[in-house]
Amino acid sequence: MSDVLTRFLSQKLAEVKEKGLYSPIDVLDGANGPLISIDGKEKINLASNNYLGFATHPAVIQAANDATTIYGAGAGAVRTINGTLAIHEELEQRLARFKWTEAAIAFQSGFNCNMGAISAVMTKNDAILSDELNHASIIDGCRLSRAEIIRVKHSDMADLAQKAKQAVESGRYDKIMYITDGVFSMDGDVANLPEIVEIAEKYQLIVYVDDAHGSGVMGQGAGTVKHFGLQASVDFQMGTLSKAIGVVGGYVAGSRQLISWLKSQSRPFLFSTSLTPGAAGAVIKAIDLMETDPGIVTALWDNAAYFKEKLIAAGYDIGVSETPITPVILGDEKLTQTFAAKLIAEGVYVKPIVFPTVPLGAGRVRNMPTAVHTKQMLDEAVSIYKKVGRDMGII
Ligand code: PMP
Repeated sequence: MSDVLTRFLSQKLAEVKEKGLYSPIDVLDGANGPLISIDGKEKINLASNNYLGFATHPAVIQAANDATTIYGAGAGAVRTINGTLAIHEELEQRLARFKWTEAAIAFQSGFNCNMGAISAVMTKNDAILSDELNHASIIDGCRLSRAEIIRVKHSDMADLAQKAKQAVESGRYDKIMYITDGVFSMDGDVANLPEIVEIAEKYQLIVYVDDAHGSGVMGQGAGTVKHFGLQASVDFQMGTLSKAIGVVGGYVAGSRQLISWLKSQSRPFLFSTSLTPGAAGAVIKAIDLMETDPGIVTALWDNAAYFKEKLIAAGYDIGVSETPITPVILGDEKLTQTFAAKLIAEGVYVKPIVFPTVPLGAGRVRNMPTAVHTKQMLDEAVSIYKKVGRDMGII
């Protein structure tokens, strides 16, 4: 290896380890369901985004197998050469219907999608107003576009209105976009889309909603935009197929014209091989299941309410969550790390989330109750929370 690279890596690795920012990666022995096994030890899993349990649903797995048998393990090319198989077309039509839009485009991941969609529309002559808590893939997509990025205080509508007004009055930009998560992944709060849309109409903003954590969760599954009935006012309904849908992939749903543009310009669509047929088949089945059995989404909300109530009764601060995302807020970084390690040792698998993912002093353990946890699993998790919290003098 090059000496320059070795020196760079040694120094940088030592730095991140020193700052406590280097976390070892846990390896699961089997599938990522409501119970997981790590090093042969079973744990209640409250860390995955598998909100509706589709990652391990037998019918979804069967659909992946069926599509693989028919179409093969891989798509064989990028979409615009000959990697568009009938199942990709079916997937995109299904996504458009799911999101109540004219059309949709599928990408290989949500991250790819944000990188490819934002940069296909915004240019260096534009400005993007971006909520300060937006996901890393949005930040990178904005950077890639070379538009001017204007950070907006989290869900602060007065700040948005003021910055939109300034941007318009400056006369410097051809287009201005506002981009926000639909559901924020660290606190579980929901974007104020009705006010956002009003401000956007006033200042002619393009509206882009990343609904990674809202799809399959809000609006009886159809997402945060549908929850507010604002499909006609949101230009980009972006989402991922890796969370509630349980598989992998990303998409934008919107007007036929927007999707045609993205299909002709978006670089991950043009230059990276399409989703595997198995993933496409599994996603179609997961959406079918969600739409035909509303009980699946209801079970998610019931379990989340049950779990949250018990944590609050135990004396924990769960912040401002309006969705199943349930943070237990501890504040101090070291305390958060130790608390999470003890929970894991006792049998509840959670991830500590600390600076720089959240602000300094806002450390928390994030819990993701799902539709497929049983009440006994949630009870057991709460009793471990109580034991560890009491032992550490937190509650
Ligand atoms: N946007 C948001 C808000 C997310 O939380 C995530 C997932 N971490 C992504 C985009 C990226 O999605 P994917 O995991 O499908 O790449």
